[in-house]
Formats: sequence, C-alpha cells, structure tokens
Amino acid sequence: MVTIKIHVLHCGTVVVDSMLPFNEGSMNPLAFTGLFRSKKHRMALPVSAYLIEHPKGLVLIDTGWHTDVRINQFKYLGPLLYMVNKAYLPNGEAINEQLATLGYKPSDIDYLVLSHLDCDHVSGLKLVKDAKRILVSKLDYQGAEIDPVRYSRTMWHGIKLDFFNFTQSSYGPYHQSYDLFGDDTLQFVYVPGHSKGLAATLIQNNGKYVLLSSDCGYGKKSWEEMILPGVMQNKEQLITSLKWVKQMSENPNCIETLANHDADVKPHVIEF
Ligand SMILES: [Zn+2]
Repeated sequence: MVTIKIHVLHCGTVVVDSMLPFNEGSMNPLAFTGLFRSKKHRMALPVSAYLIEHPKGLVLIDTGWHTDVRINQFKYLGPLLYMVNKAYLPNGEAINEQLATLGYKPSDIDYLVLSHLDCDHVSGLKLVKDAKRILVSKLDYQGAEIDPVRYSRTMWHGIKLDFFNFTQSSYGPYHQSYDLFGDDTLQFVYVPGHSKGLAATLIQNNGKYVLLSSDCGYGKKSWEEMILPGVMQNKEQLITSLKWVKQMSENPNCIETLANHDADVKPHVIEF
C-alpha cells in the first residue's frame, strides 16, 4: 500500500485583532485592522505550511514568514500590512530551516503551490525559490496584482511563477479544481471568497482524505459556527466555500480538516 505523508509545519505566528479571524460583534468597521482597538483583542495564530511527501513528488503548500521579519518587520511589511499583521518567526521555524531539519533542500521540492498570495502565505517564497516549479492559481494572481493595499507584490516579483486554472471537476463548492498529478490524489480546489482564487488542498489516498482549507476560515470554529473572517473579497462566495468545508469535514472518510491559522492545531505528521 502506497502512503502519503503530510508534515503540518508552523512557520511562525501572526498577531492580529480578533476581528480578523473571527468577525464577531464590533461596531467598528476597521476593527480587523486593529485601529482604535485595545490590545486585549489581539491574538496570536500559527502560520502554517505543509510539506507533502507524495509518491509522485515532494510538494510544499505555502511558505510562512520570511526571515527578514526578524530584523525589521515594520520596514519589511510596510505600514499598512504591519498595522493588520504582526509577524513573529522564532529561530528554526522559517520554511527553509524546517526543510533542512527534515533533510531537504529547497531544490528538492518538485512543486511549491501557493494557496493564495496574502503576505503570511507568500512571504517565505524567496527562501525556497529554488523549488523546481512554483504554482499559484491564475485567478488569485490576477486579483493580487491589481490590489497594492492588501498584497505585497515584492514578495513574488522576480520569481518565476507558473499559473494554473481551475477546471470543471466533481470537487468543491463550484465544481472546479486543478488536479496536480492527474490521478485525483492531489486536487487544488477552488474555494473563493477570502481571496479571488483561493485554493484548498484535497489530498486523497486509500479511500480517505485530508483537507487543507487554507483561509476559508481561521479555525474549526469558523465552519462549525459559520463565522466569517474580517478580510474577504466576496462574502457570498466565502459563505458557499465555508459550507463546503463544513460538509467535507463531517464526512466519515475525512481524516482531518485543517485551517491554516487554527490556534488549536499543533505541528504534526499525518500518514495515510
Ligand atoms: Zn492567512
């Protein structure tokens, strides 16, 4: 029996106002930025990346924070992103450092797939730029390139990105996905709403699956209680995507459903 191994890694933490992950009851429309909000609303959340040892190749999903945030994160993120996210990256937690711990070099990665282009997912890209192929959905790229407020394009400019399109399939709330190996084992599922072309990762093997839901929600509580994040690109789509995640998480064949920033999820390994 061929197995797939998933390493759930934490590449530092992000400190945000609680309105950003869990958009609950505030009359302040700017609450998610932390503006005019007291420090008691701040929460620290993990920033995850996932290394998948698949029989057809080594796949990395997302990259966490760049080591430059250790030096001067205000300068690195710029005033707007710094206001919304504070980045912390302890020694040993950068993506290249964690790969080394696992015995890999960035050039060993066959596919680096970015779930979307928000800074906490793409910041570490230049640390692993020697990956053989770097992929992002065409839709997310198009959304990010025209929005200099939310995105920091310098994080990917100068890096060769390959784009994929979601095509009609039996997966996801919109029946659209991208099948990386063409064998159904690794599907990147179109789950828009938080960002324009957000990709969840569906890993299937031996009749079971693991769903990496990226930022459809910030934790299990998001789909259990249908709590939307404070940052969204399209609310209606986000609700549709989150309902799909909830439904997938309840299927008996689901081993785990993991949100990228769930404070209750610790680094661990899943093999199935
Ligand atoms: Zn995120």
